[in-house]
Amino acid sequence: MKIIMLGAPGAGKGTQAKKIAEKYGLPHVSTGDIFRANIKNGTPLGIEAKKYMDEGKLVPDELTVKILLDRVAQDDCKNGYILDGFPRTIPQAEVLDKALTELNDKIDYAIDVEVPDENIINRMGGRRACLACGATYHVVFNAPKKEGICDACGKELVLRDDDAPETVKKRLDVYHEQTQPLIDFYNKKGILKEVDGTKEMNDVFNAIVSILDK
Ligand code: ADP
Ligand code: ADP
Ligand code: ZN
Repeated sequence: MKIIMLGAPGAGKGTQAKKIAEKYGLPHVSTGDIFRANIKNGTPLGIEAKKYMDEGKLVPDELTVKILLDRVAQDDCKNGYILDGFPRTIPQAEVLDKALTELNDKIDYAIDVEVPDENIINRMGGRRACLACGATYHVVFNAPKKEGICDACGKELVLRDDDAPETVKKRLDVYHEQTQPLIDFYNKKGILKEVDGTKEMNDVFNAIVSILDK
């Protein structure tokens, strides 16, 4: 099964992708996590990506597409995967489509987690991220057991540089302009599924499970 998570920054794509990954035994592939791991390790890719991420802009397509295609070509992706944060532009979606078609393959579901912009701004201030394992928490809605420490791996949690309110506003603009058109793109392919992302995390998850288990 191959799944794409769509939705605004902060809609809960990562939160849901991790839960789906666990339930269905599929790898969770997040381009944002890959970039952040590279920034943390000071790689040339990380240094390049950071310039764009800190400004709330998208990393250029050529760079992002290459990273993603390399990742899904790895062995653990053979039986499927969940893409979180990719594609984010129509050209990215087209490259993915073409690569899959060449393998006689396709995406099964594009799940759009819908959350209005007003809710996003509130959510992002409370987000805490683990740069070691990619887990995310929320100080109110999904607090870690021990404040500031990742439940999953024990490392320290951080407030992401790009989660500052001004950068979040910029990212939402970029989302509406460049990423939202993907909803129509996948709707036309007949694989779009929409869920209400304003509900509690477990309710959102149950809605997704009922789509995938149909
Ligand atoms: P969020 O989960 O809050 O939407 P991500 O972790 O997915 O954030 O992405 C963080 C940043 O990484 C984006 O703002 C962008 O700069 C960069 N990024 C991640 N995925 C992509 C992509 N597919 N194309 C271009 N840039 C990306
Ligand atoms: P995305 O990957 O789409 O950027 P995240 O999964 O990181 O979004 O979620 C953004 C923030 O909102 C995190 O702090 C997360 O804990 C919180 N969150 C996710 N889903 C919900 C929900 N259904 N209700 C309230 N808060 C949520
Ligand atoms: Zn962790």
